Amino acid sequence: MNVKNPIKINRPKPYLLFAEWADGFSATIALESLRRECPCAECTGEAIGNRVYSVAQNIKIEPGVFDLIALKPIGQYALSAEWKNGHSTGLYTWEKFRLIFEKYSVNEEDISNFEVKYKKESKKIQLKVM
Ligand SMILES: [Zn+2]
Repeated sequence: MNVKNPIKINRPKPYLLFAEWADGFSATIALESLRRECPCAECTGEAIGNRVYSVAQNIKIEPGVFDLIALKPIGQYALSAEWKNGHSTGLYTWEKFRLIFEKYSVNEEDISNFEVKYKKESKKIQLKVM
């Protein structure tokens, strides 16, 4: 299957990402899902043949970890994501990007749950700062 780039990407809420493709598929996901699926060697662990050269790291939950700063197209085949905590080694091929949207697509109910969850988290972060 030759998956092409989305025709539209936007961010309806600070923690949500929406994308639409030319074949009519569209979905909204939490940015957290995109971050957790980061395909870079550091996040997934790197294996060459049967030997595993590095073990997947659990994502350290810290302020900004799920906060997306930029999505940049890399040539014709992929998208690079930069996160507020400085992580920017993830390259999502268009195929991977589409699979993430198919797998983690959220509905209205999920979105209102996120609203509660992310509001709580931002309160926590504020308290820490004080
Ligand atoms: Zn990564």
